[in-house]
Amino acid sequence: MTYPVTEGLYSPEHEIFRASFRRFLREEAEPNLDRWTETHTIEPEFWLKAGAAGILAVDVPEEYGGPGGDFLHRLVIAEELGYSIAGATMGTSIIGDGTSEILFRGGSEEHRRKYLPKMAKGELRGGLAITEPDSGSDVSALRTTAIRDGDHFVINGSKTYISNAASAGLFIVACKTDPAAGSQGISAILVESGTPGFKAGRTLKKMGQNAGDTGELFFDNVRVPVTNLMGTEGKGMRIVLGGVNMDRITWPLIGHAAATRAYDETVTFTKNRKAFGQRIFDFQNTQFKLADIKAELTVGRAFLDDLIRGYQKAGELDTLKVAIAKLWCAEMEGRIIDQCVQLHGGAGYMDEYPVSRLYTAARLHRIFAGTSEIMRVIIARSI
Ligand SMILES: Cc1cc2nc3c(=O)[nH]c(=O)nc-3n(C[C@H](O)[C@H](O)[C@H](O)COP(=O)(O)OP(=O)(O)OC[C@H]3O[C@@H](n4cnc5c(N)ncnc54)[C@H](O)[C@@H]3O)c2cc1C
Repeated sequence: MTYPVTEGLYSPEHEIFRASFRRFLREEAEPNLDRWTETHTIEPEFWLKAGAAGILAVDVPEEYGGPGGDFLHRLVIAEELGYSIAGATMGTSIIGDGTSEILFRGGSEEHRRKYLPKMAKGELRGGLAITEPDSGSDVSALRTTAIRDGDHFVINGSKTYISNAASAGLFIVACKTDPAAGSQGISAILVESGTPGFKAGRTLKKMGQNAGDTGELFFDNVRVPVTNLMGTEGKGMRIVLGGVNMDRITWPLIGHAAATRAYDETVTFTKNRKAFGQRIFDFQNTQFKLADIKAELTVGRAFLDDLIRGYQKAGELDTLKVAIAKLWCAEMEGRIIDQCVQLHGGAGYMDEYPVSRLYTAARLHRIFAGTSEIMRVIIARSI
């Protein structure tokens, strides 16, 4: 099954973009993945090349320095990352580019003009800092504070599991500007790396996706001008979680694409490997498993297409359908890739086989951008 799998969703121009993005990953990312995995660092030159290729801040309009693409360009990127080994190995580092989308939507004119051109060129990486040591799913419990002092906010607290923590130059930080007001007291504030009192902590070793950094951030009396506030004070949840909602439509696509890649790899592998005098593919068990997987992928894609077309028509995402897609695709991806590893035998556990990297990457998708349980909470509210 090759992408695009849906007729008529993408224009010929999107398909040209897809081909050039695929080539970019093959030529500029894949040869470097082992080195990046060892160092947890992607060299700045890669991001400059990505900027020159027009794949960063892809849907930011040209007047703010972006390539002027649309929502479907973001989806093409999601599908191609999901299907590729570069995506499985780099994962959230490259997706971390979603901060440009949040900045464009929730930032002031000054923020857009100051940061977006640099982000689009690959000169500035962004990070989204919501999660803390004591609050993840329950965002309203976050403890980092930003207290007004004249024309400044003074920020104190810490964040963890932040993608690009050590490599980003700009963070959208969720802080409590009114600690007594719960979720109504959360604001989104921009903090540049290098601001006195602000520093990155450890880069954390992960189960997979180690080509890139995920780590801690610390804020010790960090003073930023009040103009760094995004939107209105106390309305930060909508800004930061609005971005997460956008993420929640790209993650199901990534999951679907990754499961499709695992299926394709497994068809090829089982047709080439023999046991007991026949191809692994010739066992009825293999064929039934692959038939089940093909059926799940086909039905799942129909739901995703419906969701995307709904967004195109209405201009906004249906939160319930997004939660259903995020939950089902992440669980389906985990189920399918686990079976694909099994059909590979020992090879499936070896890093040199794509299915092994797809397996560890997939495990994240039930946790990141809202866990499966949180998706169930959202869906259950509609019952
Ligand atoms: C590789 C990686 C990259 C990340 N990048 C970022 C980033 O860039 N920025 C950022 O802010 N965060 C990032 N995160 C953090 C991620 O968003 C959180 O890990 C996620 O939201 C879950 O929060 P938690 O880890 O605190 O788990 P918890 O919220 O403590 O959850 C633990 C378990 O309890 C369950 N649970 C929680 N609440 C409920 C409930 N109401 N009902 C039933 N079950 C519940 C959860 O589903 C989970 O199974 C990243 C995480 C990883 C692993």
